[in-house]
Formats: sequence, C-alpha cells, structure tokens
Amino acid sequence: MLNVVIFGPPGSGKGTQSEKIIEKYGLEHISTGDLLRYEISHHTHLGALAKSYIDKGNLVPDDLIIDMIDSKIDKLHNIPGIIFDGFPRTVEQAEALKELLNSHGEEVSVMVNLNVDRQELIDRLLKRGETSGRTDDNLETIEKRLSVYESQTTPVIDYYKKEKKLVEIKGIGNIDDIFGRIANALDKIK
Ligand code: AMP
Repeated sequence: MLNVVIFGPPGSGKGTQSEKIIEKYGLEHISTGDLLRYEISHHTHLGALAKSYIDKGNLVPDDLIIDMIDSKIDKLHNIPGIIFDGFPRTVEQAEALKELLNSHGEEVSVMVNLNVDRQELIDRLLKRGETSGRTDDNLETIEKRLSVYESQTTPVIDYYKKEKKLVEIKGIGNIDDIFGRIANALDKIK
C-alpha cells in the first residue's frame, strides 16, 4: 500500500493537494479536521468537545484523535493506500500511527512536507475565511494555530526524518506545479 502523510502548517495546501493525489493514486482520504467538523455539524459529544479546542486554535487531545483514526482505519479494506491529512500533529500521534499501521502489517510510505512562508499562510487563510465558513479562519485564531503548529507539530518533521520518510516540497506557486513535484516524489517510492 502507498500510505502518505501530507504535512505542513495550516494553509499550506494539504487539502488541495490531497484531492489531486487521491485523483491520481486512488488513495483513501483521512482528514482529521474534516472528521472533527463532521462530528461538530452532527452535534455529537465528540463534536462538542472538539469545538472547544478548535475555536481557540488549540489541538484536540491526542487520545480522542487516535481513537477516531483507529476506528476509521478498521473500516477500510482492499484499498491501494491511505492519505493522512492533518494527522499526525504531535510526536505521540506519529508513534500511535506507526503502531496502528503495524498492527495491520502496514507502515507510512512517505511524509510530504509542504513548505510555505508565514505571511503567505496568513494571506491564504484569511482569504479562505471569506468563503469557508470556518470559525477558526480569523486572524486571531490563525495566529494561534500557527504558533501551536510551530511548538507542538514541527517535531513530527524530525520524527519522520529519522525514519527516513521525509520529502520536502516547495509549496508555493501554481497548484499543478506543486502537485507535479509531489507526484515526482511519490512515483519514486511506489
Ligand atoms: P485542519 O482542518 O486540519 O486545519 O484542523 C482544524 C482544527 O482541528 C485544528 O486547528 C485542530 O484544532 C483540530 N485538529 C485537526 N487535526 C488534528 C490532530 N491531528 N490533532 C489535534 N487536533 C487536530
């Protein structure tokens, strides 16, 4: 299986590039942000809990995220691979993912890290906020999300570097050009 972690700060294009990767490689999409927003819109207990973190720009606790991923992976059978979007966001989550995949005889094939500078991220997220309806796409929460990314999520890059799974991709410019760089990297490891 081709199991891809698409990684990068909020606004780096993970969702956009995931769609293109899915189209070309037929992978199953697991986006923890989408799963949490689904829970919120369906007024579940998990949704209410998650919303209290998301609206402040904080990470939802690891145990809730890991349980959610675990039950999602359990439901997948006979697939060419999975793309993990917005997960893992902490080293604890990365370690849990390794164990979960190992228990299915699988592993992460590659971590694609999208590099985009901070001002570009803020501009993109503010623009997205005009139409996304997302309560966390406002300047105050965007800045908080970026600082949470720096402090809690960037250590995940080193984790995959040590595992020799890290591929760095320039995440600015034309969407198709960025996808071309990603596809080049994926074709090498397939
Ligand atoms: P995203 O759609 O990936 O930008 O995620 C939106 C928000 O959902 C984040 O700012 C977090 O509050 C929460 N979230 C999404 N994925 C995770 C994760 N893997 N770990 C913790 N919180 C998450």
